Amino acid sequence: MRNQAVSLIQSDRSETWQEILSDLITDPQELLQILRLDAQSSPYSLDALTQFPLKAPRPFVERIEKGNWQDPLLRQIWPCESEETHTEGFVADPLHEEEFNPVPGLLHKYQGRVLLTAAPHCAIHCRYCFRRHFDYQANSPSRVQWEKAFAYIANDSSIEEVILSGGDPLAISDKQFHWLLQQLANIKHLTTVRIHTRLPIVIPQRITPELVRCLSETRLRLVMVVHCNHRQELDSTVYRAFSALSDVGVTLLNQAVVLKDVNDNSEALIDLNKALFQHNVLPYYLHMPDQVAGTEHFYVTDQHATELIKTLHASLPGYLVPRLVRENPGERGKTRIA
Ligand code: SF4
Repeated sequence: MRNQAVSLIQSDRSETWQEILSDLITDPQELLQILRLDAQSSPYSLDALTQFPLKAPRPFVERIEKGNWQDPLLRQIWPCESEETHTEGFVADPLHEEEFNPVPGLLHKYQGRVLLTAAPHCAIHCRYCFRRHFDYQANSPSRVQWEKAFAYIANDSSIEEVILSGGDPLAISDKQFHWLLQQLANIKHLTTVRIHTRLPIVIPQRITPELVRCLSETRLRLVMVVHCNHRQELDSTVYRAFSALSDVGVTLLNQAVVLKDVNDNSEALIDLNKALFQHNVLPYYLHMPDQVAGTEHFYVTDQHATELIKTLHASLPGYLVPRLVRENPGERGKTRIA
């Protein structure tokens, strides 16, 4: 059992995270109105909206600069017409994840680790998402299917780590999350649970005292990989969430995706990694975008990304330089590029 001092997250907003989650911005017209923008400059795509609806939490939208179409946060959520472009090689399931799906909700791609899709939805729809075409309904386990997933893990003693992914695993309730963690803690050979989540960034109010208490009580080693792409996504409420997590011994790492016209310049990445480190989060991966249909406009070349990493090495201590990686279809681990 780790440090019992559970920090309270004091939010600048009065709503609970569930209230924020049930009041997401889903109408592009509302987003335009809040941001004082005119759709004529960047029309939205109805096809893109049908395929992958707009979802944006209000605390995230508050960090977008009004009147600025070039805002790096807006670019991550705006369903623009470029999503209708079809480029050869950009497909619905670029990682062939279905091949590694032995039990609904469980992916076994990596040696010693399995991935559970703990929640069938996210708090935000990131337009570059590599799972935007993923069949969450088919991979949204019932209790019976959860039992099958736990049995699969219990029967393979080479599995030491469970990666909770999604959707966003923190989109489930504290009660469900507590139950899930308890079931995993009961499997003796598991040592670590890694939680990949964007919720501490987009709705930091999600890091409730109840959740922090639950994390502090498990015997499992906990790693939380927050997904933050730009310094502008961070504010004082996010920092308080990081503090509450690190106070109870959760290891905090960041995985960013290098995205054209969002963060594909060295200044943005240096700023991001310095700010994260100031708040106990270490840069972990800088991911190349996956070749997902509808996301071509975010793509950067290997050469450009490698140049960025070289500049980061020249400007930052080594521990603040993330590993530049990509996932190749059929491979059991990430491939390091630089
Ligand atoms: S939070 Fe992660 S899984 Fe969800 S839409 Fe964004 S990138 Fe995809």
